[in-house]
Amino acid sequence: MRIYDTKLRGKVDFEPIQPGTVRMYVCGPTVYNYIHIGNARTFVSFDMIRRYLLWRGYEVDFVQNVTDVDDKIIAKANDEGRDAAEVAREYTTAFIEDMHALGVMDPTVRPRATEEIGAMIGLVKELIDGGHAYAADDGDVYFSVRSFPGYGQLSGCNIDEMEAGHRDLRTEGIGDRKRDPLDFALWKAAKPGEPAWDSPWGPGRPGWHIECSCMADKYLGLPFDIHGGGADLCFPHHENERAQSEAASGLTFARHWMHGGMLQVNSEKMSKSLGNFLLLREILKTVDPAVLRFLMLQTHYRSPLDYSTDRLDEAATALERLKNTVRTLRWAADNAAGDESVLDEAAVEGAIAAVRGAFTEAMDDDFNSPKALGVLFDFSAQANSLTAGKALGRDDGPRARALADALVELMGVFGIGEDVFCDEVQETFPSEVVALAAELAAYGGDDPQAAVEALLAVRAEARAAKDWAAADAVRDGLAALGLAVKDTPQGAQLEFTDR
Ligand SMILES: [Zn+2]
Repeated sequence: MRIYDTKLRGKVDFEPIQPGTVRMYVCGPTVYNYIHIGNARTFVSFDMIRRYLLWRGYEVDFVQNVTDVDDKIIAKANDEGRDAAEVAREYTTAFIEDMHALGVMDPTVRPRATEEIGAMIGLVKELIDGGHAYAADDGDVYFSVRSFPGYGQLSGCNIDEMEAGHRDLRTEGIGDRKRDPLDFALWKAAKPGEPAWDSPWGPGRPGWHIECSCMADKYLGLPFDIHGGGADLCFPHHENERAQSEAASGLTFARHWMHGGMLQVNSEKMSKSLGNFLLLREILKTVDPAVLRFLMLQTHYRSPLDYSTDRLDEAATALERLKNTVRTLRWAADNAAGDESVLDEAAVEGAIAAVRGAFTEAMDDDFNSPKALGVLFDFSAQANSLTAGKALGRDDGPRARALADALVELMGVFGIGEDVFCDEVQETFPSEVVALAAELAAYGGDDPQAAVEALLAVRAEARAAKDWAAADAVRDGLAALGLAVKDTPQGAQLEFTDR
């Protein structure tokens, strides 16, 4: 398996440090608002990476923090006249709900910053003792960037150039408490009305970067395998995490760094001022989460992703094609009753082995999900062609089912699994089929599934009697409801055309 490592600026062979177990850390949200779809994309990307590692047989220890004390949370609480802890709790719950709605697996551990203050104070002390940090007179503690020679190696920035950029700030008197303008806060002295914890430097709260250093060490141990996050976190957040952890421990922090690409809306950067700032929660009111995931995974996780309703529609249509294949294969398997076998067992096994191989090859190459999806579409077409127009024999049932199951299993690596594919058809028939069945099939009940069966029975009788007008009336009535009647050797089947 090869992965792209941000720090090494290229693809490298991947082997976990501890054989069989991959230890990953992915920075979580700062809980002051609902997350937007750019955040959601990052979490879907690393969920896909985690699911693929699991599928490849690794155990995965996945740690994701919740930043529940921060300037933005305090500002929001002050604006709304609320308690900062209450604001953080509300949006932590909302974040977890959003992740569940999107089918993102829970992390192995989800530490909250406010519950780890003691460990963070311990790490800050270690940094001061090691000469990598200093307390300013007002109770702030800063990391001394110049004390860590590797600073800048992860993001590729040059600290001398950065220093020049900061010189103007210094002459304006900003950052006077710092010995060097590049130094960043490990601990912030409390201002009146802010949440605060006691520390050796007086009451205050941790800086943002220190929590990830602390939690990664506490829950994964150093060095761990993969540190992930959105590309916007590479500098300064990840650069600072790395500097703190490596300066304090003398060990490598993360062996590999992975960063997900950004998301644009209609080819524009998402921003509140452009009015195209999209919250995940709002989108999921009208969009199937499986379709949103499908759209995201059609783009490689490192590439910029363009979100638009047109692309959503295309994703919905494409996913529906795969769902139709699975439905058709399973329906054929359920109705395989002929005496003669028509599916060649070796051909079926060969097709399944080939798709698994091609899928693995694509995903082993830095999690190339768009390529892997292409592999699955080819397989879907192949499975359809193996069974199309054939009345399956009893022996063929398990073979048709194996083709469907292989497709569902591999889509499960994208978090689009059995629950998406097994949506019982009767549950999704539009309720209007009941009225149609009352009109054309003298149906008197209110069950859409029974209504559809009554309609198909009337159509079959009409066809047998060569009453084409009656048969077409049923077909056209169903078509108007987005249901296409498809005649197969096993009888008439319905396909959804509008989703
Ligand atoms: Zn972090």
